[in-house]
Amino acid sequence: LVVLSSVNKHFGALHVLQDIDLTITRGEVLVVIGPSGSGKSTLCRTINRLETIDSGSITIDGKALPAEGKALARLRADVGMVFQSFNLFAHKTVLENVTLGQLKVRRTDKKAAEKKARELLDRVGVASQADKYPAQLSGGQQQRVAIARALAMGPKVMLFDEPTSALDPEMINEVLEVMQQLARDGMTMVVVTHEMGFARSAANRVVFMADGRIVEEATPDQFFSNPRSDRAKDFLSKIL
Ligand code: ATP
Ligand code: MG
Repeated sequence: LVVLSSVNKHFGALHVLQDIDLTITRGEVLVVIGPSGSGKSTLCRTINRLETIDSGSITIDGKALPAEGKALARLRADVGMVFQSFNLFAHKTVLENVTLGQLKVRRTDKKAAEKKARELLDRVGVASQADKYPAQLSGGQQQRVAIARALAMGPKVMLFDEPTSALDPEMINEVLEVMQQLARDGMTMVVVTHEMGFARSAANRVVFMADGRIVEEATPDQFFSNPRSDRAKDFLSKIL
């Protein structure tokens, strides 16, 4: 579904992505882990072209990423992204947050968009919050709205960049459970996370990054019980 080949990206002198080759197949849950600054967020951001790349290629369904205009807006709809900070529109209600993209990018009519939004809000467990504003919701609720908003676009793949790391501990699980359910429903997902429990139970594959490279790629079982590289061993010894 998503293929990155020989992707390179620099920020000035910093070589933040180095010869990244990665294929994400349909229905797969890929968990990306690695130390701070290893390029995990940048990797996610290149897939929906929030960052451009210097060389190499990224394709989705065999097509190169569009550079601008309506095609780019559609790409962002096809590649849903959920960030650490919830990034909801503060001056729109929860319901409006989840209908807006459908109306503007997908050209859904208003009734159908609201119906879909309510279904999705129900699915992520915040149906009763539809008419509130984001600031009136807990962090966990806001993040679940952010997931519903991305899902409303009918994405082909969902990118999650540390979706629970800004949350209070008691709210982490409610968000992880929504993600687990999404994984079970067959959504293609790329998840940057430090939640190793989630990685073990939901991931089909783990990618370990360090210094802008993919150092290791394995099943969660292999990776957690028997990491091959010293970098991965060192990383795991610090977080487990
Ligand atoms: P973390 O776990 O802390 O979120 P990360 O693996 O997501 O880290 P990135 O955010 O991808 O890492 O950043 C990789 C490197 O690129 C870091 O050294 C960071 O400082 C640098 N970087 C990221 N974005 C920019 C930018 N817009 N301009 C310059 N340097 C950047
Ligand atoms: Mg990051």
